[in-house]
Amino acid sequence: MRLIRARIDASALRSNLQIIRACAPGRRVMAVVKANAYGHGLVGTALALADADAFAVARLEEAMTLREAGLKRRIVLLEGVFNAAQLLEAARLDLDLVVHQDLQLALLEGYPGEQRLRLWLKVDTGMNRLGFRPEQFQAAWQRLSTLSPAPLELRVLTHLACADEEDGLVTAEQLARVRPLVAGLTLEGRGVELSIANSAAILSQPATHAQWVRPGIALYGISPFPGRRGSDFGLKAAMTLESMVIAVRDLPAGERVGYGGSWRAPRPARLAIIAAGYGDGLLRSLGNGAPVVIGGQRVPLVGRVSMDMIAADVSALPGVAVGDRVELWGAALPVEELASAAGTIAYELVCAVSQRVPIEWT
Ligand SMILES: *Cc1c(COP(=O)(O)O)cnc(C)c1O
Repeated sequence: MRLIRARIDASALRSNLQIIRACAPGRRVMAVVKANAYGHGLVGTALALADADAFAVARLEEAMTLREAGLKRRIVLLEGVFNAAQLLEAARLDLDLVVHQDLQLALLEGYPGEQRLRLWLKVDTGMNRLGFRPEQFQAAWQRLSTLSPAPLELRVLTHLACADEEDGLVTAEQLARVRPLVAGLTLEGRGVELSIANSAAILSQPATHAQWVRPGIALYGISPFPGRRGSDFGLKAAMTLESMVIAVRDLPAGERVGYGGSWRAPRPARLAIIAAGYGDGLLRSLGNGAPVVIGGQRVPLVGRVSMDMIAADVSALPGVAVGDRVELWGAALPVEELASAAGTIAYELVCAVSQRVPIEWT
C-alpha cells in the first residue's frame, strides 16, 4: 500500500501534445522533458509522448537515461557539452547539441571522431543567460558550418524571456533580433530551421512558431501564464499528487499544531494527519491555510509542513477516517491555484516532487 504517490495520466500528456500541434500546425515539436519531465517521470513521459518529433533535456545524464530506456528519437541537449569526454559521449548517444559559447566551438573543432553531428546554434536575443550575442552570430555560424566533419544538420534557436507577458513587447524585440540573422541564411542550398517558442509563446504568439516549437509546461497540462489554468487552453493536468490520512484526532480549543505551534485551535477541532511533507517535495510555504481535498471537499492545512506530514482541519468533515484519500493537487485542486497560494509558479511545485514519491501511470 502506497501512502503518497504521483499519478500521471498518459492520455492527458498525449492530448496536450495534440493541443500544442493544433496551436502550431505544421511545426515540429521538441517535447521538453528536462528535470525528470517536470517531476512527471522522464522515461514514462517520453514513452507517452513517443509521437513528438524530438525531446529536449538539460543534462547529459537525462539523455543517457532516455537512450538506455531504448528511446530512438532525436534528443536535444539544451545546455550542450562542456568537455571533450562529454562530446564523445554525446556523439555515442547520437544527441543533438546546442552550441552557445566559444568553449563549445573549440571542442567541436577538436572533435576527433568521424560522426557528423546535429547542432543547434543558440543566439541570445535578450534572455542573457546562454547564447552568442547577435553580433557574434555570423562568426559562430561560420565556424560551425566549416567544421570537419561537416555538421549533419545545423539549426538556430533562441529562448524568450517574457513570453508570458500579455503585451508581447519584449518578445517582439527578441524576434526582431533573431529574424535578420537567419533571413537569407542557407546551408547546402536550403533555408535554415529556427526554434523560438516555449509554451507561453506557442499558446499566445503565433509569430514565434518558426519551424520547431519547444513546449514544456503546457505538455503537462499546466498554464505558463500567471492567473490562468491549463484548462483555459483545453489542456489537461497530467499529474495528480495524492496521499492518505494516517491519523485523525480531536483537539481541545487552544491547543497548537506542529513545529513552532504556528496554528492554535480557536475552538475544539478535528485534525487529519496526512502522509505528505517537504521530504516529498511539498513546499514549506504551503503551511497554514493552503487547501487540500478530502472526499471532494477542500479543507485548510494548519500548522507547518513537516518532513513527512501535514495536518488539515477537518472539523467540517466529521466522517474523515484513516485511509481516506487526500488530493494535494490535481483535477479537484489545480496546481496553478496552489502555486499562487504558495507565492510561486506551478513549475516549481511539480519539479519539487521528490524521489521518494512513487509515480503511477494511468
Ligand atoms: C525549459 C525550456 C523550454 C520549455 O519552457 P516551458 O515554459 O516549460 O514551455 C523551452 N526551451 C528551453 C531552452 C528551455 O530551457
